[in-house]
Amino acid sequence: MKILEYTFEETTKYLNKEFGKGKFHAAGICREIFKKGNKNITKAKEFHDSKELASEIMRRISISPGIILKTEYEANTVKYITKLNDGLNVESVLVPMNSYTTLCISSQAGCRFGCIFCETGKNGFNRNLSTEEIIGQFYNAKFYLKKSSIKNIVFMGMGEPLDNTENVIKAVEIMSDQRCFNIARKNITISTIGIPDQLEKLGSNLNPVPNLAVSLNSAVNSTRSKIMPINKKYNLSDLRTALLSYPLRNSSVFFFEYVLMLGINDSYTEARKLVEFVKPFKARVNIIPYNNNSCADISSPSYDKVKEFSRWLVEKSIFVRMRTRKGSELMAACGQLGKNFEGNKSNS
Ligand code: SF4
Repeated sequence: MKILEYTFEETTKYLNKEFGKGKFHAAGICREIFKKGNKNITKAKEFHDSKELASEIMRRISISPGIILKTEYEANTVKYITKLNDGLNVESVLVPMNSYTTLCISSQAGCRFGCIFCETGKNGFNRNLSTEEIIGQFYNAKFYLKKSSIKNIVFMGMGEPLDNTENVIKAVEIMSDQRCFNIARKNITISTIGIPDQLEKLGSNLNPVPNLAVSLNSAVNSTRSKIMPINKKYNLSDLRTALLSYPLRNSSVFFFEYVLMLGINDSYTEARKLVEFVKPFKARVNIIPYNNNSCADISSPSYDKVKEFSRWLVEKSIFVRMRTRKGSELMAACGQLGKNFEGNKSNS
């Protein structure tokens, strides 16, 4: 019983089938494991009178979140690398905010979408992470790195979450369940390049839905296709249609991520097209200056350029945020993790 990938309902069902027990005992198990990181469920009050049952369940429970290989501290952020059972590595990042911590997690080992500005995409695709491996990043942060203040989860690490939709949906269910990690859905954000049928799947399986950060990067089809090959399959019109059908919560907005790259998507025409694309949505545009790295022949815009591009949007009443160094270094958009990442070599 891989408990880290069991929803509360699944645990209840399992107890019912195997032992004729139900929600009462499931609540005890979930509290000990997800809230306390304690595999010894005999201590739970629900099992005070049934120690043998607790021992039998404990014998069946396995917890395999992966092993933290390395942690790196930079500007208050903590990046940690988890080694999975098959030897692959994934990265996660803890970013301290004022009174809480945001955890940026990975959903795949590698990625197959090949966006040209992306570190993760450069290494190719290995495989999807299981729900246990996604939840495991949270479990390790909370119980091994002792970060009890995590209140925000962003799927902005390695991989495209909507290329692994089922496992991501289940992970969101477990994270947000009050009896498990109890992270409010409004504090969970999926960062995606926007795959229409998978957006539909996400929207119809989770109610309320998590936030969406859409990796847009250009609202001109020819530019977007050049930097994000997915746009050749699903163009901007397909993306717009899918987003308009997404059952966004009333209190939420779409976050459009825009990695600004010198001479590629930073012109006035690009800004005007971006305004046009974003206008029908309750939205915020996050401008993320491209970080120099080894991915491709792309240059970072100057600070003045970033300010100018932002101003073009603000003048048209678009709500814009320029990402700070803290964010842009480590969790600016999907695809910024994986730098110097020798652990995973894919065949794709
Ligand atoms: S930006 Fe996101 S979708 Fe594109 S290659 Fe990188 S991880 Fe994959």
